[in-house]
Amino acid sequence: MSHPRCELLAPAGSLEKLKIAIHYGADAVYLGGKRFSLRAQAANFNEDELREAVAFAHQHRARVFITVNIFAHNQDFKGLADYLKFLAKIRVDGLIISDPGILGLAGKIVPQLKIHLSTQANVTNGESAIFWEQQGVSRINLARELTLAEIREIKKKISAKIEIFVHGALCISYSGRCMLSLYLTGRDANKGLCAHPCRYSYRLEEAKRPDCFFPVEEDERGTHIFNSKDLCLINRLPELIAAGVDSIKIEGRMKGIYYTGGIVRIYRAALDYIYQCLEKNPHEPVVMGEEFMKEIVKLGSRGYTENFLDGPPDEDDMLYSGPRVDQIYVPALLVRKKGSGTLFDIRHKIEPGDRLEYMAHGLANLNFKIKNIYALNGARLDQAQPNTLVRLETFPEIDWQEDGLVRKVQN
Ligand code: SF4
Repeated sequence: MSHPRCELLAPAGSLEKLKIAIHYGADAVYLGGKRFSLRAQAANFNEDELREAVAFAHQHRARVFITVNIFAHNQDFKGLADYLKFLAKIRVDGLIISDPGILGLAGKIVPQLKIHLSTQANVTNGESAIFWEQQGVSRINLARELTLAEIREIKKKISAKIEIFVHGALCISYSGRCMLSLYLTGRDANKGLCAHPCRYSYRLEEAKRPDCFFPVEEDERGTHIFNSKDLCLINRLPELIAAGVDSIKIEGRMKGIYYTGGIVRIYRAALDYIYQCLEKNPHEPVVMGEEFMKEIVKLGSRGYTENFLDGPPDEDDMLYSGPRVDQIYVPALLVRKKGSGTLFDIRHKIEPGDRLEYMAHGLANLNFKIKNIYALNGARLDQAQPNTLVRLETFPEIDWQEDGLVRKVQN
C-alpha cells in the first residue's frame, strides 16, 4: 500500500483566515480557543466560532486541530476539563499539546481525541519520540532544530506521524522556549504573549556611563543581534517527503490574510507538483523549479533560511540589518460570493484604472484592470476605501472564487 500523501497544515488565526487557507488548498488548519493556547494575541476563537470553524472545515473536507499548548501552571487547569469535553463534542480532529499534565488530563477525559505533540515539547531525538508515542501521542511536531538526517532517523523509529514546520518566523531560542519577552516587556512568550523583542534593535551601555549608549553597529540601521531570517523549506519538500514526513506545517497565526492565503497557495502547488512528478517517475528525484520561490518572495519577509536542515545555521541565516524586508504587494480585495453575484471586500483603496492581480489556484496570477466600481445600491464610485463592500466591472472578466485574494503593488 502506498504511503498517504503529505498533509498541508495551515495556521488559522481567525475564521476569515481559516476560510482563505482552505480555499487555497490547506488539508488541515490549526487554531486556538480564547484560553489555553499560545498566540494569545491572534483573534482566537470563542465557542461559537470554534463550532463554525469545525463545521466549515469538515464541509470542505479539511481537518481542524486545536492548540492547547500553553505551559500550564496549577491555576491554568481551571475550566480545562470542560473545554476539552466541548472540543470533543464539536468533533475537532485533534489537540495540539505540549504540557505533559494537559496531555494526561486529555487522555483521561477525551480519549477519543487524537493528541499531537506541539513543537514546544522540543522532540530532538528518537528516544524522546518513542517516549511520547508511548504516552498516547499520535503525531509529533519535531523541534525545528533538526537536520534532515535526524528527521529521517526519528521517523524510522516510530509509527506515530511526524510533522515538520516548513515555513514562517523562527525563534532564536529553542522553538519558543524563551524568557526574553517576559523579562523585557512583561509579556510571557510561553503563555502566547510574545512581544518579539528578539527583533528589536540593541545597543551597549557601560556601567559607569549611564545613558551613554554604544552602537554595536552592523550597519547604519542598527543591530538586530537575535533576528533570524524566516524559515522556508520549499526547495527541500521532495527530500522531506522521501524522509517520510506526514505533515508540513506553516507558522503564522498572527500574520495577515495575504500571508495565509499566499503561502498556503504556493505550498499546495508545490505538493501537487511533487506528487505529479512522482506519479510519472517514482524513482526520479524531484527538482523544484524557481517559480515557487519567486512567488514566495512576493509575499515579503525578513529573508529566508533553511535553518538546521543541513546543520547549524550561521550568520547568513540571521538578518542583522533591520527587523524586516519590505513588502512589495498589499492585499487589495477579498472575493465574497452572494448568490450568483460577486462582491469585493476592500482591504486597500482602489480606483477605476488600477491594475491588480488575482491570485488564482496553483501559481496562476491573473492581471486585470478595474473599469468601474459600484456601491451596493448601484451608484458608481470614484474610489473604494478599506472595509467596504463593492461590485466591480473588470477587464478582462474573471472567474472569481469565494475567499480568493487580489493584490496590488504598494504605492
Ligand atoms: S522573543 Fe523572539 S525568540 Fe523569544 S519567543 Fe518571542 S519570537 Fe521567539
